[in-house]
Amino acid sequence: MDRPLATLDFQHHVQQAGVPDAVTDIDMAKVRACIHCGLCLPKCPTFRILRHEGDSPRGRVWQIKEANLGLVGFDDPRFQTHIYQCFNCRACETACPSGVQFGAIMEMARAHTPPQNRRDRLVRALLLNGLLPHRGRLVAAGVAFRTMQALRIPAVLRRTGLWRVLPLGKFAAFPPPVDRGPLRGALPEVMPAQGTRRARVGLLSGCIQDQLFRSTNRRTALALAANGCEVVIPREQLCCGALASHAGEAATAARLAAQTLDVFQRAGVEAVVVNAAGCGSNMKEYDLQLRSDPTLRPAGEAFSRTVRDASEFLASLAPLRAPRRGLRLRVAYQDPCHLLHGQRISQQPRQMLAAIPGVQLVEMKEADWCCGSAGVYNLTHPEIAEAALAWKVTNIVESGAELVVSANPGCIMQIAMGLQRAGHDIPVVHVMDLLGWAYGDEGAAPRLIEARFTG
Ligand code: SF4
Ligand code: SF4
Repeated sequence: MDRPLATLDFQHHVQQAGVPDAVTDIDMAKVRACIHCGLCLPKCPTFRILRHEGDSPRGRVWQIKEANLGLVGFDDPRFQTHIYQCFNCRACETACPSGVQFGAIMEMARAHTPPQNRRDRLVRALLLNGLLPHRGRLVAAGVAFRTMQALRIPAVLRRTGLWRVLPLGKFAAFPPPVDRGPLRGALPEVMPAQGTRRARVGLLSGCIQDQLFRSTNRRTALALAANGCEVVIPREQLCCGALASHAGEAATAARLAAQTLDVFQRAGVEAVVVNAAGCGSNMKEYDLQLRSDPTLRPAGEAFSRTVRDASEFLASLAPLRAPRRGLRLRVAYQDPCHLLHGQRISQQPRQMLAAIPGVQLVEMKEADWCCGSAGVYNLTHPEIAEAALAWKVTNIVESGAELVVSANPGCIMQIAMGLQRAGHDIPVVHVMDLLGWAYGDEGAAPRLIEARFTG
């Protein structure tokens, strides 16, 4: 049964008391764009799960306004709870008739809000600040994770049931088809265009993406090259700062944004192509990430205008060159929040799938709802994330799809884990994996896909 609706229990009538000055750099014009109409509430997953006004977009904007006027402390435990219980999925932005930029407001608010959840503090220290910005540590973690796969540790965890008691056991026991083995070849620094060169583009290889899904990067580069792009993959690039910015780790996010900006500026490319929705959304908002640096901010803004999601960029080159082989499969596409709501891209990934002969696209119910991955949310708030994942698994199974495709590593890992754990043998891959295989990539594919190639 649904929980009863709960309302906020701290509401000051700031308008009556006169409007005090904002106490932080949170842009009050953005906050005041909210007219409290509530049209976003039916699209908010945390409001649907928690049934509390404080966990709705309207309630969160209201609380952020109060905190920014000094009427509620940023360290008030109720405020902290509601702010960090948000998926930051930005579904409310798509629903909002007033154009409230919820993602920007939330990231600015989180930058001032210390997390009170112990898991949240650990994830920040170990992952966001301790691991992702450091190349050597990332490589070591990637080798450890892939070695675990090669030694079939996930099967042991599943058989013994140990995954239920180990921290992060569910992620280790039910992994998506990540790259295997401790040693893999680096991607070329430049992949030449096939046929007449139409563009010279950069490719973000990413942090987690580069360690666990490097073959997805290779297939993305192959799809671009097959369509006349010279693809530059700078070796010195690192994390773009997306996970840090979405969690409100503003200093780390700004440092990584500045570094990414520098690397791609030196590469001399016309566009920077990104195949991870969260990263693309972040890189399209580098003016926000670099807001505290008046020198770099304009460069960040200019850079953001060159950033394109992989499907978005390939769709701009349409018609695509014909793939070498087809794939006889019923495929459901899951919209990653930061592609759909953060970048307003929904048709282009579907166009990529439609370009592969034999693919039958089936639409699942609520493909536009968050799967619960939400950056590091499934680590910091696993119980709420599980509720969102449970809907997703049900909707996928009901769609009759044989394969799920998405465009973000976090969603792919989360959905693959949910499907496997529920006993469904439905693989989950990236749109660019499917396109890359269709263009002739020789890398291993899940058995089901290998069996359904045509041509
Ligand atoms: S965020 Fe937008 S839709 Fe939601 S209450 Fe405010 S104005 Fe209305
Ligand atoms: S970002 Fe998502 S979870 Fe957060 S308030 Fe908006 S719709 Fe709700």
